[in-house]
Amino acid sequence: MTGNQIDILINQISKLPGLGRKSAQRIALYLLNNKEQSLSPLISSLKVAREKILNCEKCNNIDTVSPCSICSSPKRDKKSICVVEDVSDLWAFERIGLYDGLYQVLGGTLSAINGIGFNEINLNKLEKRIHDQKVKEVILALSTTTEGQTTSHVIAEKLESLNIEVTRLAQGVPIGGEVHYLDENTLNAAFQSRKKIV
Ligand code: ZN
Repeated sequence: MTGNQIDILINQISKLPGLGRKSAQRIALYLLNNKEQSLSPLISSLKVAREKILNCEKCNNIDTVSPCSICSSPKRDKKSICVVEDVSDLWAFERIGLYDGLYQVLGGTLSAINGIGFNEINLNKLEKRIHDQKVKEVILALSTTTEGQTTSHVIAEKLESLNIEVTRLAQGVPIGGEVHYLDENTLNAAFQSRKKIV
């Protein structure tokens, strides 16, 4: 490995979310000093991730199978869909373990600035699922950021004519709060006391 290649490695690592150049240097050095214990297993995991992990065709969750293990589980209530922004929010709900329905992962929120519109967040897919699965309740578990609230509002309006219950997370979610940053008790309380909006 030449000096240049080490630089390339550090550069790649520094592009990961939340890492600056200094952390990237530390990680690169750590991996190079621990090839067997850390670098090799990491390479294997990354290879598996690239080859085997895909988005669920129904809910957009990530898994090694599609439909994902949540969508295909007989234990999950197919009449309920919880709409979340990204997979880390889905994981937050799974961690607290009190929701037994299905999810729809939007992959973002509506944002004119970032050019994210209806097609990007797959609202048509959500409508189709509501229809096909005869869904009774849609829980909007989006951030309390401006974009998150706008997205909730737009989805609620779109679903208004479908004659289903649309709820959103209630108290406890601070303004500007992102769902996956909430501690378990707060998320639990917000979920239990969700409010009907349609
Ligand atoms: Zn799925």
